[in-house]
Amino acid sequence: MNINATLLNYYQLCHRKMWLHYHAIRMEHTSEVVYEGKLIGEESYPFRADKNEELEIMLPLQKGEGSGEVNLTAKIDFFDAKRGIVHETKKSAAKEWAHVAQVQFYLYLLQKNGVEVSHGVIEYPKLRQTERVTLGEEDVIRIEANIEKIREVLEQEQCPPKLPISKCKACSYFEFCWVGDE
Ligand code: SF4
Repeated sequence: MNINATLLNYYQLCHRKMWLHYHAIRMEHTSEVVYEGKLIGEESYPFRADKNEELEIMLPLQKGEGSGEVNLTAKIDFFDAKRGIVHETKKSAAKEWAHVAQVQFYLYLLQKNGVEVSHGVIEYPKLRQTERVTLGEEDVIRIEANIEKIREVLEQEQCPPKLPISKCKACSYFEFCWVGDE
């Protein structure tokens, strides 16, 4: 089992969405929002890829009772190894807690792999703003508790229940969950 930042984000939005994504029931390719997000990273910083390496990291976790192998994985677009700074670009016109949680997860993984990290920076080209992200002890406790809960949900055989429909309007699984039920 590989747990990444996407699953961590979905866990905080909807357990069912996370479970569906993990079990390879994918709807995101239909979403223009996702595509736009990819483009803005490429267009805002076109020369970045030449100067900085994309970084893939993995951290194997100890097996829980009755659990199979679990790895934490991340693909970081831009890590400034000299200064220990993780950079993340978001196309969003609004700052979100999920962006901070994603960068904290990257910092956590790097730290656990013995890499010296200082902090993270989220860049919002549409807002022309940046957000500094740090990783404190309480953040580490929260991340580790979430990882444990994620593992439990993903190991369930049954798809978790739906959220109330009022929370589903912007979800890429809306049709999957609700067509025929409305
Ligand atoms: S449509 Fe609603 S219940 Fe279904 S995955 Fe999305 S948020 Fe969850």
